[in-house]
Amino acid sequence: MSTIFEKILAKEIPANIVYEDEFCLAFNDIEPQAPVHCLLIPKLKIINLKEVTQNHSEILGQMMCAIPKVAKIVCPSHDFRIVINNGKNASQTVFYLHIHLLAGRSFTWPPG
Ligand code: AMP
Repeated sequence: MSTIFEKILAKEIPANIVYEDEFCLAFNDIEPQAPVHCLLIPKLKIINLKEVTQNHSEILGQMMCAIPKVAKIVCPSHDFRIVINNGKNASQTVFYLHIHLLAGRSFTWPPG
């Protein structure tokens, strides 16, 4: 079964895309939890970090390298928080790996 993010990747449903390269796509979250809230997804399907193997090292490295590029676009003068929820108990609702990038307000620690 195709997740909503695969449909966004396939351009079957619209999204406000803020960044795209050969390896990943970033778009605004539909229900933002901060003034800036976007999601970075790989173009290769990975459910979450629990299923990652050594074979994913390139795509994950490319995603990490894309983070500052996305941040420069969406929040050029802000600090930001990165979140990855892995599994239901960690509040993952879309089972396609995604990195939340949140900015534009202060964030507390520990997270809820
Ligand atoms: P998570 O709870 O970590 O799985 O995060 C899933 C995120 O996807 C949530 O922040 C949702 O608001 C977001 N989301 C769900 N559907 C869409 C969509 N069609 N476009 C953009 N963001 C979405």
